[in-house]
Amino acid sequence: MTTDDTISADHQGLRAVKDKIAAAAKDVGRSPADIELIVVSKTFGPDEILPVLNAGQRHFGENRVQEAAGKWPALRDKFPDITLHLIGPLQSNKTKEAVTLFDAIHSIDRPKIAKAIAEEQAKLNKELQLFIQVNTGEEPQKAGVLPRDTAQFLDQCQNEFGLKITGLMCIPPVDEEPAVHFAFLAKLARELDLPGLSMGMSGDFEAAVELGATHVRVGSAIFGARV
Ligand SMILES: *Cc1c(COP(=O)(O)O)cnc(C)c1O
Repeated sequence: MTTDDTISADHQGLRAVKDKIAAAAKDVGRSPADIELIVVSKTFGPDEILPVLNAGQRHFGENRVQEAAGKWPALRDKFPDITLHLIGPLQSNKTKEAVTLFDAIHSIDRPKIAKAIAEEQAKLNKELQLFIQVNTGEEPQKAGVLPRDTAQFLDQCQNEFGLKITGLMCIPPVDEEPAVHFAFLAKLARELDLPGLSMGMSGDFEAAVELGATHVRVGSAIFGARV
């Protein structure tokens, strides 16, 4: 090991987002420590990611298994304590690779995937942090279970497949007020007795924190725009 873990270089984008999370949390009487910042590094390479690692960040999110498999193993050799979150849709033929590489999956939305994750976890003797994605806007093109189907799907995940589900995740429709969806997801999670809430991106993470997010997924506010 080098002294990588003790290096704490500044990263302006990261610091700005952390400060805003802390301020939003304080506004509603929450502790910033209860909110996990997931830095979304999709489309960015080691040159952009390394400065964020050197600034002490350890939770990262990717939306494609293949892309993550191409860049994270080498970064993990240098920073073994990285936590990797899969935040994009998962195909069942990629489940083995996903469960091997990732520590958390935020996009569980159908029985086939839930069952495949349970089987791979058993084989690999590994337990990931798992979120059910809810299509709160009921958009036809969007992944996620419908709100009215969430209780039954959760029950199936827990009792048929034996999965431990941490919480719910949503991506609000682009043309709607995100706070409405965050409040809705928070209420649903409360009703289902789930502690985790993965919600909030670059444009709306402060609102998400105010409404109870435990995990925010922020990319472009830290790295700049994706090209
Ligand atoms: C890309 C992505 C994010 C981050 O988006 P930004 O607007 O860059 O912060 C968050 N969640 C999911 C599911 C994503 O695909």
